[in-house]
Amino acid sequence: MAHAEATLDTLYSEVLRRNPGETEFHQAAKEVLESLAPVVTKHPEYVDAAVIRRLCEPERQIIFRVPWQDDNGNVQLNRGFRVEFNSALGPYKGGLRFHPSVYLGIVKFLGFEQIFKNSLTGLPIGGGKGGSDFDPKGRSDGEIMRFCQSFMTELYRHIGEYTDVPAGDIGVGGREIGYLFGQYKRITNRYESGVLTGKGLTWGGSQVRTEATGYGAVFFLDEMLKTRGQSFDGKRVVVSGSGNVAVYATEKVEQLGGTVIACSDSSGYVVDEKGIDLALLKDVKETRRARIDVYAEERGAIFVPGGSVWDVPCDIALPCATQNELDADSADRLIKNGTSYVAEGANMPCTPDAVRLFSDAGVAFAPGKAANAGGVATSALEMQQNASRDSWSFDYTQDRLSDIMRGIHDRCLETADEYGSPGDYVTGANIAGFIRVANAMLALGVV
Ligand code: NDP
Repeated sequence: MAHAEATLDTLYSEVLRRNPGETEFHQAAKEVLESLAPVVTKHPEYVDAAVIRRLCEPERQIIFRVPWQDDNGNVQLNRGFRVEFNSALGPYKGGLRFHPSVYLGIVKFLGFEQIFKNSLTGLPIGGGKGGSDFDPKGRSDGEIMRFCQSFMTELYRHIGEYTDVPAGDIGVGGREIGYLFGQYKRITNRYESGVLTGKGLTWGGSQVRTEATGYGAVFFLDEMLKTRGQSFDGKRVVVSGSGNVAVYATEKVEQLGGTVIACSDSSGYVVDEKGIDLALLKDVKETRRARIDVYAEERGAIFVPGGSVWDVPCDIALPCATQNELDADSADRLIKNGTSYVAEGANMPCTPDAVRLFSDAGVAFAPGKAANAGGVATSALEMQQNASRDSWSFDYTQDRLSDIMRGIHDRCLETADEYGSPGDYVTGANIAGFIRVANAMLALGVV
């Protein structure tokens, strides 16, 4: 085991050396490598064939200029990214993020996570991610459309049903996928539905894709609760964010008998002891695209500008906003307030110190690559429907999603058991995700 740890340390040093300044990517790589010592001990062939080394190096990284004109006729300039990380299991698959914080290190952390997440679903999808430092906030519909068209004018040559299939992420929802797909169709003169997922229901989209990440995280939590002989009944839940993942996590928690008493956006958080009014939240966020204080004002709930939503006492915490939003201080407060379950709806929202505190305190903790895999899994179901020119009902698709999440949950626990860390979802997710992709890489030779 000591030899395996030394080997993994060396591999991590190489990641640091080859990818300077990409702190989020370092964090994501470290988190996975730290779990792999028992695998490397049992299977030295993964090291001999440089599988782990190759996994840490994207197959292809594309960076491009995205010029566009704003409503005043001024030329604006952004940078676009697509990191095609690993295609051993299928075409690269992963979302596009439009947010001013986006740079190569963020895209690579997300792409790296995506490899293991996609592998965990058991579906034939590789890992990739992309986006831009474009800030959609305050931009008109016309500006969003022109930006998306310019972005796709470069991206189209790199993607395809059998190559790379992007979807949404922060700042990219149904509206943006529509503009991106429209431009792809125009440039290529082909109605290739399978080139993007997250499409609208009348033009190749799948039932449940909009809801899938949030619903999936709550299905996963439901399995965790059952493992401990509990249910959502009477549980107080705090969700961070109020975007796609947060809204549909809230919806499913309420359907399963829990109460979501707080949510947030980057301006602050609301506390609504009666339970979040979903119709109002959707209207404020999805239709009016307003700030979260508008919800508080119209609902008569409490709005706390700035601050941390993790100050609100709860049984279950569901971080659904962004990376590193829940640090050691927040974890400490949650533990003191009696939180016993945390599931990551977002990607890497908990810092490594926070995860360690949860583990030491016996809090059941589900990492994002397992808990939020429902989004990409349903994207794969959308690809399946596109390929067969079929469309499935809401109930059937939701049942498939629920089965997939149960499968991921059980695979995590079984793998954690097998490798000597019973009950540890982090180890289970990393090892189970790794083994499937590593075996495919071994079979495909040195490519
Ligand atoms: P949205 O853009 O729909 O919503 C993001 C939410 O998080 C908004 O409420 C936003 O507030 C808040 N937020 C974003 N950045 C910050 C920040 N720096 N500080 C505080 N709040 C912030 O994105 P999604 O819901 O799609 O994505 C949320 C998370 O889930 C991300 O980590 C994403 O990678 C992950 N994820 C998403 C999937 C999907 O299918 N959409 C699939 C799997 C994971 P504001 O509007 O004020 O910025």
